Amino acid sequence: MVVIDPGHNGQNWAHPDEINRLVHIGTGTKACNTTGTAAADGYPEAQLNWVVAQLARDELIARGATVVMTREDNDGWGPCITERAATGNEANADAVISIHADGARSDGRGFHVIYPATIAGLTDDIAGPSLRLATELRAAMLVTGMPISDYTGADGFSERGDLGGLNRSDVPAVFLEMGNMKNAADIALLTDSEFQQRVAVGIADAVERFLTG
Ligand code: ZN
Repeated sequence: MVVIDPGHNGQNWAHPDEINRLVHIGTGTKACNTTGTAAADGYPEAQLNWVVAQLARDELIARGATVVMTREDNDGWGPCITERAATGNEANADAVISIHADGARSDGRGFHVIYPATIAGLTDDIAGPSLRLATELRAAMLVTGMPISDYTGADGFSERGDLGGLNRSDVPAVFLEMGNMKNAADIALLTDSEFQQRVAVGIADAVERFLTG
């Protein structure tokens, strides 16, 4: 059982009151959700995440996995980050992959994988396996053509203790930041259907190696 979490949602921008509502992420509070970033031409991250998430879902199903998505389309708002985490917890998922793309300075390139910091009583039970999942996902992303991030993290990894989707997860969970939507070379790749399929294959490869390794 794998949970694929396409970050944000296509109509979050139209529901500021709902998505700005504070939710508890274990270490404090945070907005229920955010609009996500966008390319220079306005192409929204929520749409990109949704496209890649569907490809990843299909690839995993083709390999025999059971897949649960945290949202069923790109036409609504939410769910809150806490509800997304609850989806993985209630499914007792073997792995949760949240799919995102970044909106960094335009000269920054590349992907990074985010794994949960070890927070006592919160993520100390999932930090180890999540890092192993992150390691598999980073390795799988190396063959997609997207370089490792040169603007954030360290060698393609970033440890975070401030993300509700990770803090509230009771099962192994990572975020994939596929690339920088503000960078011309990255966005050309990110919107290329063959690259998107390579990411989907990479996600499925990573999950498979994580579960069988
Ligand atoms: Zn995002």
